[in-house]
Amino acid sequence: MNAKLLIDASYFVVAILFIWGLKSMSSPVTARQGIIWAGVGMLIATLVTFAWPGMTNFALMLIAIVIGGGVAWWSGKVVKMTDMPQMVAIYNGMGGGAAAAIAAVEFARGEMHGTVLTALATLGALIGAVSFSGSCIAFGKLQGLIKKARSLPAQNVVNIVLGLTCIGLGVALVATPHPSAALLWSFFLLSLLLGVILTMPIGGADMPVVISLLNAFTGLAVGFEGFAIGNPALIVAGIVVGASGSLLTQLMAKAMNRPITNILFAPITGEVQEGGAQIEGTMKEVSALDAAAMMRFAQKVLIVPGYGMAVAQAQHKVWEMSELLEEAGVEVKFAIHPVAGRMPGHMNVLLAEAGVPYDKIFDLEEINAEFPQADVALVIGANDVVNPVARYDKSSPIYGMPILNADQAQSVICIKRGKGAGYSGIENALFYGENTRMLYGSAQQAIARVITHVKEMGA
Ligand code: NAP
Repeated sequence: MNAKLLIDASYFVVAILFIWGLKSMSSPVTARQGIIWAGVGMLIATLVTFAWPGMTNFALMLIAIVIGGGVAWWSGKVVKMTDMPQMVAIYNGMGGGAAAAIAAVEFARGEMHGTVLTALATLGALIGAVSFSGSCIAFGKLQGLIKKARSLPAQNVVNIVLGLTCIGLGVALVATPHPSAALLWSFFLLSLLLGVILTMPIGGADMPVVISLLNAFTGLAVGFEGFAIGNPALIVAGIVVGASGSLLTQLMAKAMNRPITNILFAPITGEVQEGGAQIEGTMKEVSALDAAAMMRFAQKVLIVPGYGMAVAQAQHKVWEMSELLEEAGVEVKFAIHPVAGRMPGHMNVLLAEAGVPYDKIFDLEEINAEFPQADVALVIGANDVVNPVARYDKSSPIYGMPILNADQAQSVICIKRGKGAGYSGIENALFYGENTRMLYGSAQQAIARVITHVKEMGA
């Protein structure tokens, strides 16, 4: 078999593995297998590169694979679940940077042929560079290295002027058969600057959506570079990432009821927010003993997990408590908001890890109508996703965001450490509700105290 046929056949298998892997990731039951299938596809695509005609510098390729693979292996092992968004951000940025680097090398070698292919490579380079620098800023913010969201005076005008300048330089690149080093450098540097300027003003609350958007950008950039250098694996991977990233961005924006344009050009800064009507009432504390009794003698308990459960790694204790309640005849269900936690599916992954059966986990649309019939809604480290002001306070920054109707349960128990605000930085009217009681403490310890009391009460 000649090398070209072998490469094409391998890429066909790679394309099937990528698509199959992505399809499997859509359910928590098959997600792990999906990651393995896609990983095998990636391995084949990498190995096939060695068979490409004209490949000579195998030592350099091996060194790059060992360094990249080593760093990925190590970071995959040590990163905490709650730090996953910044890990996704930085990996995503690397993809965009790699796409831009491919274009830079091809331009520098004078290997760009044909107006259409050169235009695609230029577009890929622009998008890839924006995605790279934007993702680095996103990483810095989520990692706490960049503390504040900063915007320039006339930010949107600067964005437009810089964006148009980059496009103008890109057109000049396409129109110039042998572009000068000055043109190449200014195009790439200004594209990188555009990514920084676009991402700097965006605050923590919107960052996961922006990361997903940059992820879609990276996919596009990789796909364009695939066309430019005639590599089918890059084209397929790019299209798959671009399409899935765009859909995910849409889903998150919809779940937050914020148009993408609003997220990019009128961001929530993540600092404590002004605005919103004054909330009346006081927060009323409950002891672990009383909380245990309220749930042990209930007929139906709906559990709403949020970011705090993830930080406290309380999912195992939560499931232990749920099993005890079920043994005592209580019906227990989990209500999951699409943007609870810090990334889509965050809560589903944690609950699956703790062994919660999938048929006990319900999405917002499936469960919301059941809250009025629940004796207790147990809110564990969730805040924004159960904030009723989103329903009625037009002056609130989260007005219109669909929420879980925990406030409509007969009683609500909220576990959190203190009076800390949610991700969007605003007060939560639920905590001041007549039927709400606060159980203070870190989620894992608070649930452990409840478990002790439920056990004492017997089955
Ligand atoms: P949240 O609004 O961020 O609130 C988390 C709450 O957990 C805080 O009020 C905090 O209060 C409490 N907490 C922190 N550590 C805790 C611990 N160890 N034990 C107990 N409680 C603890 O969380 P959420 O309700 O899950 O909402 C997610 C937010 O992320 C939303 O604003 C959403 O729009 C945003 N977001 C998510 C995604 C996504 O894909 N998931 C995407 C985009 C945006 P204390 O400090 O008082 O303990």
